[in-house]
Amino acid sequence: MSYQVSPVGFVRSCFKEKFAIPRQPQLAPAARGVLELVAPFDQGEAVQGLEQVSHVWLLFLFHQALEDKPRLKVRPPRLGGNTSMGVFATRATHRPNGIGQSVVKLDKVEPGRLWISGIDLLDGTPVLDIKPYVPYADIIDSATNSIASSAPQLIAVQWLKTALQQAQGHAQRLDEPLVELIEQCLAQDPRPAYQVPTSEREYGAQFWDVDVRWHYPEPGMICVLEVVCAN
Ligand code: SAM
Repeated sequence: MSYQVSPVGFVRSCFKEKFAIPRQPQLAPAARGVLELVAPFDQGEAVQGLEQVSHVWLLFLFHQALEDKPRLKVRPPRLGGNTSMGVFATRATHRPNGIGQSVVKLDKVEPGRLWISGIDLLDGTPVLDIKPYVPYADIIDSATNSIASSAPQLIAVQWLKTALQQAQGHAQRLDEPLVELIEQCLAQDPRPAYQVPTSEREYGAQFWDVDVRWHYPEPGMICVLEVVCAN
């Protein structure tokens, strides 16, 4: 038996590639985007009342991780990529039907557009449904998860003076909290856990329309080297 679903909208996100996106929402409050609704949901009626809500659940498609053959076990990056787990015990992107869910902050509501932050969504992500966060039902004080018991440990992020100036300039041009975005995302340490980088090895990722390059001058520390226009 199969069912068909179609997106109610698409996310325009600060994240242009998968690398360096936080592993869950709320880890980078400066990660912002706009959910652009498609017809017929781009009418004001579809979002009427939503201005009374601070956060929403987004159900979306991991459109850049869809696979034909369902996996039963996955190797979550959080566990270092070596330990496999039942797919339903994880939030892995490779999963049956490729459906993801994230609670995001709702900053502004307009007909056809939702301004959202604290996102963990790639640019172009198709959104299947939007539901208001309901604190009395969605907060479970007694909930536990021993696989992911707490947020990832943060590492220190430092800047070359020139890189910080570049980031501040682009932040002004974009009218976005770019310095905070870079710091919040890099503090999660995007590097795959199995890689032990030498201090010469450089990493890079695109945020909005800028390329950010960094390295690990010593274990547990990132230094941002450069923030320049992409392309
Ligand atoms: N909060 C969601 C969940 O629990 O279903 C997503 C968790 S998943 C572990 C988060 C990762 O998904 C991000 O770090 C990013 O690399 C990846 N991602 C985000 N949007 C995606 C998309 N549209 N297609 C493929 N991968 C995506």
